Amino acid sequence: MGTNNGIPPRIHVMAKPSGATCNLGCSYCFFLDKELLYPDSRFRMGDVDLETYIRQLIELHRTREVTIAWQGGEPTLMGVDFYRKAIEYQEKYRKPGMVFENTMQTNGTLLNDEWCEFLKENNFLMGISIDGPPHLHDAHRLDKGGKGTFDSVMHGLRLLQKHGVEYNILTTVNRVNAAHPLEVYRFLRDEAKTSWIQFIPIVERINEDGGNLYQEGDKVTPRSVLPEQFGRFLIQIFDEWILNDVGKVFVQMFESSLRSFMHFPTSGICIFDQTCGSALALEHNGDLYSCDHFVEPDYLLGNIKTEHMLKMVGSDQQRQFGLDKRDSLPKYCRDCEVRFACNGECPKNRFIDTPAGEPGLNYLCVGYKGFFKRVDVPMKLLGTLLRTGRPAEEVMGLLRKDEPALREAYRKSRAKDACPCGSGMTFNRCHGWKSQKHGHKRGKPSAPQPRPPVGNYGR
Ligand code: SF4
Ligand code: SF4
Repeated sequence: MGTNNGIPPRIHVMAKPSGATCNLGCSYCFFLDKELLYPDSRFRMGDVDLETYIRQLIELHRTREVTIAWQGGEPTLMGVDFYRKAIEYQEKYRKPGMVFENTMQTNGTLLNDEWCEFLKENNFLMGISIDGPPHLHDAHRLDKGGKGTFDSVMHGLRLLQKHGVEYNILTTVNRVNAAHPLEVYRFLRDEAKTSWIQFIPIVERINEDGGNLYQEGDKVTPRSVLPEQFGRFLIQIFDEWILNDVGKVFVQMFESSLRSFMHFPTSGICIFDQTCGSALALEHNGDLYSCDHFVEPDYLLGNIKTEHMLKMVGSDQQRQFGLDKRDSLPKYCRDCEVRFACNGECPKNRFIDTPAGEPGLNYLCVGYKGFFKRVDVPMKLLGTLLRTGRPAEEVMGLLRKDEPALREAYRKSRAKDACPCGSGMTFNRCHGWKSQKHGHKRGKPSAPQPRPPVGNYGR
């Protein structure tokens, strides 16, 4: 990918036309506190700002494909007509041959037939936020009255399916659903029937301002996923996926890891790349921020009403923001054996000290390290298959042959032994771990699990 004055040819901007406002009140939503940044705002992007944004976004792209990403808060609060206008402006400023892909991340609860007809007609790619089956989803995804939203989210999902709208699922991983990795994964695969899943760890810091307006402090809320728990969550889902679902289900973190293990120049997700800075956030009033996770006064680049996005994206401030991700890595990360895949993950989560006392280690380090070590052998095998022109699916048959020996090793392992899966974690913290409800008794390890019939989950 070439650059022009350091500006990549393609930029990802998350536009938040309704700001941080949302019709729900999910307990861990870090966007809700962002309303405090704009105390007197109605949180509605005006028509002039919408046109300016679309025009500038098109002008700064030097690629044929342009992704136009709508997010919130809840972007459907803007109503269908706002997006009809957005499509009109895309047509008005389209460069010859340019192809647009509109994406939208939504809780799905406001979708109806009119919405879905519009989304289908304009080829939107929708992301729906679902945290698992009802008892896990409703642990935190509540409406303003504190009631669970599972039924209304699933209604929205079924409408998208009925109208043939393309969709992905985004699952936030918190301390509750992280304890049920297979139940979550099987639900998404078999009930929500998705073939593309994105997992986002919930890491909320307890700040002096009482919320998440600034990224400060080294304490996390009780809702936040625990580092080891997150690693185990990924490992157990990976075990299921690599034996059953390669080529059928795409898990963003697994796809990105594969790219890293195959030494692609980028992993495909900013959090695992060496540097970042190409994923910005646009607020409802035209304010542009360095990143969606840094919508904070210190990371404001300017406003599209007074400055072209091209200038802000290419500014020293933004360039430095992207380079800091690499340059602020502690020695512990620089020496880490899985750095090529992890790269210290997102700076937002780098708030603990290394064992040597150096600041800036990622809170999720233990989990990521375990995960990347666990996937080393299978990912290399997958990479070899792909490089030699063989189908990725072959990996499942090859690894199944090793399963009896692995199971036997699990059976013989004692609590403090290193887990035979290669994660580097102790057995009792990895494959010997017992979940609260659907756990695995010592000597009956989790991998591999036979694929359950559809609907046979959450008992
Ligand atoms: S700060 Fe984190 S989320 Fe934002 S661009 Fe960098 S790596 Fe990505
Ligand atoms: S696994 Fe831990 S030490 Fe290694 S790069 Fe990631 S955060 Fe740093």
